Amino acid sequence: MTDKRIHIVGGGMAGSEAAWQAVNLGIPVTIHEMRPQVETFAHRTGNLAEMVCSNSFRSDDDEQNAVGLLHWEMRQAGGLIMEMADAHQLPAGGALAVDRDAFSQGVTDRLRAHPLVTVEAGEIDRLPDADDGQWIIATGPLTSGALASAIRAETGQDSLAFFDAIAPIVYADSIDMDIAWLQSRYDKGDTEEERTAYINCPMTKAEHEAFIDALLAADKAEFHEGETAGYFDGCLPIEVMAERGRETLRHGPMKPIGLTNAHKPDEKAYAVVQLRRDNALGTLYNIVGFQTKMKYGAQTEVFRMIPGLQNARFARLGGIHRNTFLNSPTLLDDQMRLRSRPNLRFAGQITGVEGYVESAAMGLLAGRLATQELLGDPLPPVPADTAMGALLTHITGGAEAKTFQPMNVNFGLFRPIDAKGGRRGRRDRYKAYTDRAKTAWREWLGLPEPTVSDIAADAGAETPSEA
Ligand SMILES: Cc1cc2nc3c(=O)[nH]c(=O)nc-3n(C[C@H](O)[C@H](O)[C@H](O)COP(=O)(O)OP(=O)(O)OC[C@H]3O[C@@H](n4cnc5c(N)ncnc54)[C@H](O)[C@@H]3O)c2cc1C
Repeated sequence: MTDKRIHIVGGGMAGSEAAWQAVNLGIPVTIHEMRPQVETFAHRTGNLAEMVCSNSFRSDDDEQNAVGLLHWEMRQAGGLIMEMADAHQLPAGGALAVDRDAFSQGVTDRLRAHPLVTVEAGEIDRLPDADDGQWIIATGPLTSGALASAIRAETGQDSLAFFDAIAPIVYADSIDMDIAWLQSRYDKGDTEEERTAYINCPMTKAEHEAFIDALLAADKAEFHEGETAGYFDGCLPIEVMAERGRETLRHGPMKPIGLTNAHKPDEKAYAVVQLRRDNALGTLYNIVGFQTKMKYGAQTEVFRMIPGLQNARFARLGGIHRNTFLNSPTLLDDQMRLRSRPNLRFAGQITGVEGYVESAAMGLLAGRLATQELLGDPLPPVPADTAMGALLTHITGGAEAKTFQPMNVNFGLFRPIDAKGGRRGRRDRYKAYTDRAKTAWREWLGLPEPTVSDIAADAGAETPSEA
């Protein structure tokens, strides 16, 4: 099987987009999709690119929002997922919501009608061999058991997770360091960097009591049917810990021992919430051990009760879901190839990105990278200043491998740009990020500089608010 063809396992968001990119560059693809023969607990149809839950692609603001920028980049690359989302858009303010059935039917019809696309029904239950040609594995959060076992056998037991346990991630520049301080427990570490690896937020007894009350009262999301098996091993949501006893968290992730408040050395904190650096840039910190099933609205309210986080901005909120994903920082190279088996690429949610848009985006990249490699004209690295590149750089190296959890696209993943502080400063900074990204992305795609009329059309376009 060494013809110039790409085999794509999984016809979801990522697999569909990867296929579209390849066939538009002239390379035939076979999409292997197990539905409807083999079902998952979340999908309902046999269509490609089915949206399993919400019908939203989130913010469409390409100047002030990183997801909106990802939309823009995919549109520039002729992405099918965005074309169909635009074609089947529903009114939703600044967000891009779609008619889910018409959307996935549209993707399915376009791909099935393309002369270079073959859709083969059935489950793939093993990894292809090294001489089987180019493959892209895009089987998503609900990868079938047999294939997941084969991937685990290849990558190692600890390299493929079946659940995510996501602690909320905070933008470092929104933490109040007049209240919080840098210190590792017992000042452990050989270097100053290690001894100051954590940001600590202290709580008095009264603050702790109020926090536990809020946690217990907060709105929680339910698990989907079929989702819970095996999850209670070692990653309890904080609200479940609090339900087991009001002091449980104080003996777990909120224990105050081995820490001295740098601002008030004589005052012993009753509890301490710790945040740990989440990316090499040092722009993002996760709240250690704070995985939660609280609803998003409740999370921001409850977490802003933590002293030092009263003005926190969240790059992503916490969650626990059934989710199959690789430890990409150790396993994938910057071309999305499995280091140990370079004829295999991974794409979509299984690479440790999160969400329809991010998954489709990683499909788009994998499709283009695989195609160009097959054509003997490999692409240069995806520029890290683009939304695509920032996300890819994070999952293939920028993220901490030891604590790697799935990630949404957000401006914390971007190489910083200096701008004045405050709300206005933030708007200027985000605009600078998106301008920089657009130039780099067009260059990478080999597109000409925008014309005066393109710029005028852009300037006249409405800027929807963040969704
Ligand atoms: C319950 C649930 C709710 C979610 N809700 C949202 C949400 O509201 N918003 C959001 O943005 N994201 C949500 N997600 C995440 C969502 O799944 C991803 O954002 C997106 O669908 C992932 O795209 P993907 O292409 O990687 O995987 P998918 O879209 O899931 O596509 C993978 C495809 O591979 C197929 N497949 C699996 N194993 C095999 C095999 N061995 N052989 C052949 N085919 C196989 C599957 O049938 C599927 O069609 C949710 C996920 C789950 C599980």
